[in-house]
Amino acid sequence: MSHLFGPVPSRRLGRSLGLDITPYKTCTFDCIYCQLGRTTNKTVQRQEYIASDLVLSEIEDFLSEGEGDVDYITFAGSGEPTLHSGIGEMIDTIKTMTDIPVAVITNGSLLFREDVRGDLSNADVVLPSLDAATAPVFRAVNQPHESLSVDQIIEGLRMFREAFEGEFWLEIMFVRGVNDGTYEITALSDAISAINPDRVQLNTVVRPPREDVGSVDEDEMVRIQGAFVGNFDVEIIAETRIEVRADILPLLERRPLTLDQIAGSLEMHRNEAAKYLRELAEQGVVVETVHGDKRYFGANPHPPTKS
Ligand code: SF4
Repeated sequence: MSHLFGPVPSRRLGRSLGLDITPYKTCTFDCIYCQLGRTTNKTVQRQEYIASDLVLSEIEDFLSEGEGDVDYITFAGSGEPTLHSGIGEMIDTIKTMTDIPVAVITNGSLLFREDVRGDLSNADVVLPSLDAATAPVFRAVNQPHESLSVDQIIEGLRMFREAFEGEFWLEIMFVRGVNDGTYEITALSDAISAINPDRVQLNTVVRPPREDVGSVDEDEMVRIQGAFVGNFDVEIIAETRIEVRADILPLLERRPLTLDQIAGSLEMHRNEAAKYLRELAEQGVVVETVHGDKRYFGANPHPPTKS
């Protein structure tokens, strides 16, 4: 299986070639809004989950065919990338292979560790998240590994920011009724002032998460934006809610597509696209076919009629 995905258009990073370096849902958190489903391996154990050499040789192959239209090579995917003990070595090696900037999307939970801070030090952009600044809300929204504390994470983010020479963009995912209260926003604002990121990006739940959690409406997001003041830009990056059926089916009615093509068109990770395709296949509106060694998904020309 390839550990590269895309390049996919990304709201935050332009055209991004994704690197997925952990097994599916190996994460320090089990966020209530996670689009990938439940965390199957909640851990803080760093190890070489996937051979670094294998990932690097896939990048080498990709680059040997021309760098194409790629704005960033991005560590992201289906788990927490800083759990991979080889991420620092991979970043350093990629920097010798290409001038394409390297980005890391992380939940920031391990930056309190000196080795993790050192590993990310040569990245060009680090995009950590911070969804809470008080212990109860942190537990509610991120459902972290029991050894993690939010104070330690905030201090880790601050220490990393202080030494890091690249761009540091902090994302906050707001979930209605969970981390959007006045007290929490004030605590987050204080924490962010201490961390001092280059940018703060505000987001809210827009795709069906694993639990019944709701998004914060647009007016409220604008009000929250006004609460964050500092030497950093604050932007709202929430998308409008994707109507999966309305977005996927017109694509598949034109021609059958592979999972990667669908994920690329919809700007989502392939695991997320796979989840939607499963649902649509169960409803009988999408059918799967195999040609050669590739699997294609197409619209069912004779979908079941509702009784
Ligand atoms: S940190 Fe990311 S991958 Fe991990 S549970 Fe939260 S949203 Fe999912």
